[in-house]
Amino acid sequence: MQQLEALVRAAEAEVDRQMQICNACRYCEGFCAVFPAMTRRLSFDGADAHYLANLCHNCGACLHACQYAPPHEFAVNVPRAMAQLRVKTYEEFAWPRGLGGLYRRNGLFVALATAAWLAFFLVLATWGRPGEGRDAASLAGNFYAVFPHGTLVTMFGVVFLWALFALAVGVTRFWRAIGPEGSEPGAAAEATRDALTLRYLDGGHGEGCNDEDDRFTLRRRVFHHFTFYGFMLCFAATCVATVYHYAMGLHAPYPLASLPVVLGTLGGIGLVIGPVGLLWLNFRRHPLHTEPSQRPMDVGFIALLLATSITGLALLGWRDTSAMPTWLAIHLGCVMALFLTLPYGKFAHAAYRVAALLKYQVERRRRNPVAVAAD
Ligand code: SF4
Ligand code: SF4
Repeated sequence: MQQLEALVRAAEAEVDRQMQICNACRYCEGFCAVFPAMTRRLSFDGADAHYLANLCHNCGACLHACQYAPPHEFAVNVPRAMAQLRVKTYEEFAWPRGLGGLYRRNGLFVALATAAWLAFFLVLATWGRPGEGRDAASLAGNFYAVFPHGTLVTMFGVVFLWALFALAVGVTRFWRAIGPEGSEPGAAAEATRDALTLRYLDGGHGEGCNDEDDRFTLRRRVFHHFTFYGFMLCFAATCVATVYHYAMGLHAPYPLASLPVVLGTLGGIGLVIGPVGLLWLNFRRHPLHTEPSQRPMDVGFIALLLATSITGLALLGWRDTSAMPTWLAIHLGCVMALFLTLPYGKFAHAAYRVAALLKYQVERRRRNPVAVAAD
């Protein structure tokens, strides 16, 4: 624990050092929300550093613009300093705290091992029902013949509520540390719009951010959108199916042209295109942009998203065959692993980022306490 404290303080001190230089320079003021937020303070330690780190989304633009970037002796590398601290944010505010550290250190292994273990257990459970769930004609895509509806609701209810609770505790801790007093009219709406449109991935000029070099590209924004809206469509499919089941008495399996299946299929396709693109970009990023210790966690999250979408589409393709129970078990294992690890990695950044954007929108509606620069 003492080692974690020392690492967190060192990462905060580096953000503080670099922001002191940026605050004197201010060349990047128009790039993203980090720099206008910076002009409102004179020191950047503790909670302020975590706030700025989560306003940054690692677009890389300020590194390519910076005259003090390595090999200059000032060694200003804002994307990396922010990325190093963001990883610590996930761990510092995570609940339970130990899981944040476990996932940070072994992200890819933890993600894949959790999915494999759960899938194996669930496949065994389908085999433990001899005579049931193996006859394609009798199954006819009926998942509840393999796992009863009540069993699925209990399993996923527990996992979903765990993820929601852990994320809520983490974000509440974060907000208490950084949060401004009170709110301002319109701040929440603008922060939500900024988050949903990934506004600051446009580089501040609409042409996009940087990946492997100083050319601007909108690829990262596009692949993030495929991922986010793919995830939301899959979530919407589950919600619609729940309404069908409980409110309308319509029970699965649903026809291929039904709303839950169409939403789930479109979401699954988005969740293949987005993560494949992000994985491709992850390995092409300029090495100075990234924090190498963060890669296993990023790749672990992307791998779980891909495993979830690919097994979901496979389940759709084989749902009327005798392979359906096995695909169902594998898919459910991946979904459960995804939700169990959501609060401790890359996904948590989305929640912390929305909180940081909200603070930013509240602050910029108030007078600048430093009053030496315009927002
Ligand atoms: S990143 Fe470099 S160029 Fe940009 S504000 Fe900081 S010191 Fe100036
Ligand atoms: S990397 Fe991009 S988002 Fe992060 S501080 Fe620099 S310009 Fe802003």
